Amino acid sequence: MDEDYFVQAAQVAAQATCHRAHCGSVIVSTDGKVIGRGFNAPPLGDESQRTCDVEYHSDKKPKSDKTCCVHAEWNAILNALRDYPDKVVGSTLYFMRINELGEFTEAGDPYCTVCSRLALQSGIKYFGLWNGGPQMFDTASYNLKSYNFFA
Ligand SMILES: [Zn+2]
Ligand SMILES: [Zn+2]
Repeated sequence: MDEDYFVQAAQVAAQATCHRAHCGSVIVSTDGKVIGRGFNAPPLGDESQRTCDVEYHSDKKPKSDKTCCVHAEWNAILNALRDYPDKVVGSTLYFMRINELGEFTEAGDPYCTVCSRLALQSGIKYFGLWNGGPQMFDTASYNLKSYNFFA
């Protein structure tokens, strides 16, 4: 069942317009309905806001965000909050990054604390990443103690 939602997230990822990565997210309510979809793209799809191709000097690179566009997760969360505000609490977010061939890639450990905080704040209960198969994280995975910020 989880796998079907990763397939749907991959289909959404195919619409991504970011030049650096093609990511997609779907959010599924407790009753199994897809309530939000998002892919990564410049804000409002506005080309004047695109920063994908900016080359940062290593000491000027933004530290809070590894990517350029609005994250797929942010778009999916905003979409769900707009369309199904009563169904977001307890829902599950599925994330997928596809390669140039449209194939699943492995997400690795959760690292984007902006996505984590936004998911937590919106009431999303589980965060699904693909690592050779579905890997479901609960809120414990957002515990900042698991990241070694001070190394
Ligand atoms: Zn981009
Ligand atoms: Zn993120």
